[in-house]
Amino acid sequence: MRLILLGPPGAGKGTQCKHVVDKYGMKHMSSGDILRAERAAGSDLGKSAQGYMDSGKLVPDDVIIGMMIGAMKDATGGYVLDGFPRTVAQGEALDKALSAVGEKIDAIVNLQVPDEVIDARMTGRRSCPKCGQVYHILNMKPAVEGQCDNGCGELVQRADDTSEVVANRLKIYHEQTAAVVGYYEGTGSLIINVDANQAVDDVTASVLGELDKIDQAE
Ligand code: AMP
Repeated sequence: MRLILLGPPGAGKGTQCKHVVDKYGMKHMSSGDILRAERAAGSDLGKSAQGYMDSGKLVPDDVIIGMMIGAMKDATGGYVLDGFPRTVAQGEALDKALSAVGEKIDAIVNLQVPDEVIDARMTGRRSCPKCGQVYHILNMKPAVEGQCDNGCGELVQRADDTSEVVANRLKIYHEQTAAVVGYYEGTGSLIINVDANQAVDDVTASVLGELDKIDQAE
């Protein structure tokens, strides 16, 4: 399966992607994770993305498109895209690259969460800088406060998960990324809308229930 997981920052895209990958075995391709790895490695791409990421702005389309289309070439067993496309231009470039090799996206899962819920979710998020595991100080607590369950050490708050930056990321989501859903509606793609303002397990059950239908039809 080739999937896109859409939704505002803090909708739980990363968490749901992990469940989808565990069940169907495709590759999880997160543009944010790839960018953070580039930054950690000190690459030119990582350095050029740094300022945009820390202020909650989008990294320019040409940088992201080249990075993601390049990374997808290795994912022959299908993938779930997380955080990409985030603009209509990125969606168009993705579709162009896929149709050039006779492929297409099977479905877009659109996680829906009201803005007022997002701030609490994101500012409480903590993650492990070593293994990438994500926690929440209220509803996905680690066994020991502030420590990764996988034994890696201290958890951190992402620089772009502070209230001020979250507000900016939400603004950008509404200005640029929400239109991606409209773009895919216009191309006649299968869009699965999921209420993501429920307990994580219920969101997962909804997402996997819908994807099972596609999996069985394949
Ligand atoms: P994420 O982990 O998906 O929330 O992404 C973190 C940050 O990386 C975003 O706030 C952007 O600065 C940048 N980023 C990730 N994906 C994209 C994308 N598709 N287009 C532009 N910027 C992106």
